[in-house]
Amino acid sequence: MIPYGKQEILQEDIKAAVDVLNSDFLTQGPVVGKFEQAIAQYCGVKYGVAVNSGTSALHIACLSLGIGVGDVVWTTPITFVASANCVRYCGADVDFVDIDPNTYNMSVVALEQKLSIAKIQGNLPKAVIPVHMCGQSCEMDKIKWLSEKYGFFIIEDASHAVGAKYKNNPVGSCKFSDIAVFSFHPVKIITTAEGGMALTNNKILFEKMNRLRSHGITRNPDHMIHEPDGAWYYQQVELGFNYRMTEIQAAIGISQLKRLDAYVANRHKIAEKYNKFLDNLPVKTPYCQDDAYSSFHLYIIRLHLNEIKKTYSQVFDGLRSVGVGVHLHYIPVHTQPYYRKLGFHTGDFPEAERYYQEALTLPLYPTLTDAEIEYIVHTLYTVILN
Ligand SMILES: *Cc1c(COP(=O)(O)O)cnc(C)c1O
Repeated sequence: MIPYGKQEILQEDIKAAVDVLNSDFLTQGPVVGKFEQAIAQYCGVKYGVAVNSGTSALHIACLSLGIGVGDVVWTTPITFVASANCVRYCGADVDFVDIDPNTYNMSVVALEQKLSIAKIQGNLPKAVIPVHMCGQSCEMDKIKWLSEKYGFFIIEDASHAVGAKYKNNPVGSCKFSDIAVFSFHPVKIITTAEGGMALTNNKILFEKMNRLRSHGITRNPDHMIHEPDGAWYYQQVELGFNYRMTEIQAAIGISQLKRLDAYVANRHKIAEKYNKFLDNLPVKTPYCQDDAYSSFHLYIIRLHLNEIKKTYSQVFDGLRSVGVGVHLHYIPVHTQPYYRKLGFHTGDFPEAERYYQEALTLPLYPTLTDAEIEYIVHTLYTVILN
């Protein structure tokens, strides 16, 4: 099966991991800090906090902004469940904003409408979590403008968008947000096996996330509630977690980061091939905004089912049965049983639900060969046109 996404591990990544294994520190050593610096420098942002997953990064991002019981946070229904779950971990309520039918990102038109109603009803969100779907940035200048008008924080879920740009700023620069979050899961753009990072320009948020990653413990006397007893002393000043990234993971991340730009360029080349080859099929190829340079984490087409003699499932199963590992990103989060129990229904976010009827993710990763692309395209023609 050709998977929809796949990591590339080279000898240099393996060597970086082995070097750490032969060193004094497997965790809490110098390499995590180096990885944080390297990513922060790449993004043009001041601070990075490396953690054991993108989900953990989202969780400490929410906590550092003070999100808790009684607060509401909005995200998009077309995302991985973690973008909403992080809010629930804090005891806050989630609501969703429907998607834009072209970019599949949170619609800023729907966002503005929902904000104007929420203002009247007195239930404005404490934060909004836009997700850069497939690696194409949301319209962050507009979301930022709305955040100033209505007063909410912004956490970018940039799990898909490592290596992407928005208005010539690297995604992760936090020019338009309080915090941006990356994931380094193997299907994402670069990997540390499991891993994530929260980025910010705000020193207070940085220090808070840094503490939350490691049990809420500080060794900085300035942050202690009372005077330290002595040189051995640390203080737990709040309830934190063990969300630490290992030195091994960070070393792999530093090694992978060197190939990030080449990976994204390669993803673009493959996407362009797909665009060209799929031109004659009754499908919609990805829409690209002028001011956003996508990382092309995912290549998603929409089937024009009224022009196709098969059902969605027949197309999907037809491709899978001959080794083309297509996927569906994502099942609208509000229709998951857990969220239904919280009161969401089918019909709540029609654009997201329509998308779910038609969206199909084709395999895309930097080492996908021309022969594989041809096979995938050929199979698509056969399955869709027969
Ligand atoms: C992958 C992903 C996450 C979670 O990342 P993990 O590193 O797997 O915890 C969160 N949000 C989105 C949109 C993702 O794709």
